[in-house]
Amino acid sequence: MINWTKIGIGFLILAIIGLITAIVLSLKKKVNKIPKYTFSPEQEKFLSILHPSVENRFRELTHKMQQKGWEVIFTSSYRTFAHQARLYAENNQNAKAGRSRHNYGFAIDINLRKDGVQLRKASSKAKWEATGIPQMARQLGFTWGGDFPNYHDPVHFAINQPSIDDLYQKAIAQFGANPEQIKGNQVNL
Ligand SMILES: [Zn+2]
Repeated sequence: MINWTKIGIGFLILAIIGLITAIVLSLKKKVNKIPKYTFSPEQEKFLSILHPSVENRFRELTHKMQQKGWEVIFTSSYRTFAHQARLYAENNQNAKAGRSRHNYGFAIDINLRKDGVQLRKASSKAKWEATGIPQMARQLGFTWGGDFPNYHDPVHFAINQPSIDDLYQKAIAQFGANPEQIKGNQVNL
């Protein structure tokens, strides 16, 4: 004989478990949205325009640099295709529009400052390495511009996936070929 009471209790328990799981998941989502670290308004200007898929990784990196006692001074993060085209026109050593990871919000340029010392683009690779920050960034999965074989760019930290071709093709497919219309930091991945 079927025991309807037991079946009823079974369903009730399952429903309660389901409800609790749903509540826990929605709370977790809310907690994830609360920024983990606080930055200055100036730093936020650069961090908040990075691609949403990698923004938190750059926040983590910036936080860890600061934990090492360095002030992080941003000089660039997301850069529009139009801005990149102007940079290329000024100097053909610069990447063309759509060919820099900055054009998708996948790269930052920074100076580091501590005790009156400021590390910049012109500072030597050895000086940057001595901070321990390039090493830390590599371990966190970033590429460092000080490691580029033919271009000294120690201010540059980037995430190298997906490939630049992939990003470029997705940008064109989503926004069309006119560089003025492309919002690289909003490319759907
Ligand atoms: Zn850069």
